[in-house]
Amino acid sequence: MLNRQGRPTTPGTSDSAAPHTFTGNRALDQTEPLLFEVGRLETTGVDYEAPKKVKARLGGLARKGEIGLPGLSEPEAMRHYVRLSQKNYGIDTGLFPLGSCTMKHNPRLNERMARLPGFGDVHPLQPVSTVQGALELMHTLAHWLTELTGMDAVALSPKAGAHGELCGMMAIKAAIEAKGEAETRRIVLVPDSAHGTNPATAALLQFEVRPVPVREDGTVDPESVKALLGPDVAAIMLTNPNTCGLFEKDIVAIADAMHDAGAYFYCDGANYNAIVGKARPGDLGVDAMHINLHKTFSTPHGGGGPGSGPVVLSERLAPFAPVPFVRHTDQGFELVEDTHQAEKHGAHSFGRITAFQGQMGMFVRALSYMLSHGADGVRQASEDAVLNANYIRAGLADLMSLPFGNKPCMHEVLFDDHWLKDTGVSTLDFAKAMIDEGYHPMTVYFPLVVHGAMLIEPTESESRASLDLFIATLRDLAMAAKRGDKERFTGAPYFAPVRRLDETRAARNPVLKWMPPEPISEAAE
Ligand SMILES: *Cc1c(COP(=O)(O)O)cnc(C)c1O
Repeated sequence: MLNRQGRPTTPGTSDSAAPHTFTGNRALDQTEPLLFEVGRLETTGVDYEAPKKVKARLGGLARKGEIGLPGLSEPEAMRHYVRLSQKNYGIDTGLFPLGSCTMKHNPRLNERMARLPGFGDVHPLQPVSTVQGALELMHTLAHWLTELTGMDAVALSPKAGAHGELCGMMAIKAAIEAKGEAETRRIVLVPDSAHGTNPATAALLQFEVRPVPVREDGTVDPESVKALLGPDVAAIMLTNPNTCGLFEKDIVAIADAMHDAGAYFYCDGANYNAIVGKARPGDLGVDAMHINLHKTFSTPHGGGGPGSGPVVLSERLAPFAPVPFVRHTDQGFELVEDTHQAEKHGAHSFGRITAFQGQMGMFVRALSYMLSHGADGVRQASEDAVLNANYIRAGLADLMSLPFGNKPCMHEVLFDDHWLKDTGVSTLDFAKAMIDEGYHPMTVYFPLVVHGAMLIEPTESESRASLDLFIATLRDLAMAAKRGDKERFTGAPYFAPVRRLDETRAARNPVLKWMPPEPISEAAE
């Protein structure tokens, strides 16, 4: 199917085995060209008359050329966006096994709470006296986060997990500076099983990153940490549960070693959902840890809403927490907004990490999730998440290979590509074939410590029936790969609106601007 500009509307579908349709649509799966390709620059979708006799008050900034927006009728514009939304695969459409991302159900109750006018319509610049309820909510959320983690303080303002890491490491840096050790403590240890954002965070703060090898069983040996310790080490950034889906069983020994060396222990707790209600990071010797509300506490990811990555801090780091923070006084709740104000309360805040107070809507959703589940419900959610991951492990272990042996995992199960050897099918091919079966693929080629990684995280959202269907699907695919049905994989996805994309080229040469098409006669040559 060619559009008006003579270009295929769905690049990649033309070589499909399926018959062509006149429109390029596949039944109710409609192709969706860009707005610029459906609309026309010379028409307009609105019928306002040009205003007469109005004196321009634009101070010479009036537009000189055409704005270049295509004209569309209201239904055309609406359909464009609704169709785009239908191309989205999300947790609301099916199982989303992306490991390390915790794509879990976002309860609708949370959405209702976030839309209550007192929360939904609040403005960050409103006088504090008019937002007492919102501040109380933040204060209550902070209370539960410190309670659940066994930590002293929490910075609510970071807007994502990676942002929380930056915040926690800035607190560590401030604490080191306060001790006058900024010149010497320049190294941050990062195990090979850490999330990629950990070394990036350390590097961003001008620390030198030193990798810690992972031992045979996928965890960190405290002896390898001790071997690297010295007066030049600022901190370790350890992901727990780590990216292999394993609990770092020697975490206390590692924490003790860090503290004995005068260094800090940053724990990447993005996947706190695997241990919440079971283990408290404060008891494990953690100094700073971010919690992704969009993972553990069910607030939506990405397009569904912004992330939020509060950081809990130990007693040693609490004074260095960023502003703003909420305080409860006899007169109600107040917002401590700058470092001078913070100093009056005995804090040596490193400053501000974001404008305003953080993601208010996410705070409402997260607290709603916590309160509707209660302490026992939150613990049950983490137990179920771990149970579900192990159910998948047990259902696939005879066909697919486990890099660290068939042993219990945490909230996610990691396979490698050893079992695909000599099949001519790669991890990528396998993932693409899952799309044809209606599943979003698992995380692939991450973590880097195992070859051809496939990291599956079902979360607690899935019922046993849905897990059984997922396992049966993966078993069918695995047997097809072993049988030599290579084409089912190497050509996949066959049924997606667009097929194999040149992802490397797309990343290297992103086309971010629509350019008017060349005349059809030239394009046809
Ligand atoms: C998701 C994740 C992060 C990053 O969180 P964002 O909100 O995506 O910035 C960091 N570490 C781990 C282990 C994660 O799973």
